Amino acid sequence: MSSPTIQKIDHLGIAVKSLEETLAYYEKALGLTCEGIEEVPSQKVRTAFLAVGEVHLELLEPTSPDSTIAKFLAEKGEGIHHIAFRTSEIEGQLAKAKDNGVRLIHEVPFDGAGGKLVAFLHPKSTHGVLTEFCMPKAGTCGCGGH
Ligand code: ZN
Repeated sequence: MSSPTIQKIDHLGIAVKSLEETLAYYEKALGLTCEGIEEVPSQKVRTAFLAVGEVHLELLEPTSPDSTIAKFLAEKGEGIHHIAFRTSEIEGQLAKAKDNGVRLIHEVPFDGAGGKLVAFLHPKSTHGVLTEFCMPKAGTCGCGGH
């Protein structure tokens, strides 16, 4: 197993109240294209991905009042929620962060949107930025994380 490497910013996660209303802005006012809407039961959200060159925007709408996105919206309102780094090896990347004293929200990666394994680092130990690691699962296409 090679040492874990962060390859790029995969996406920015943005908490929104309504995917449809937010997509109207990104698609009409900015001219971006939604690549698909997907429900992610593990996170109690519906997501929409928009390509911006190599990076994506991940719009996150809560599907339940106890979704972490619902809590974020209640406390902070709509806005940037997390930054996601694509890693070559998610378990090793988590272990490296942990070895360096970073608090993990998820010790074990779980299924996120787009057929990826994801895990989050706690913003209290990342200087205020909720940080996601993501990695395409073996067998899924490597065409940009969507
Ligand atoms: Zn994300």
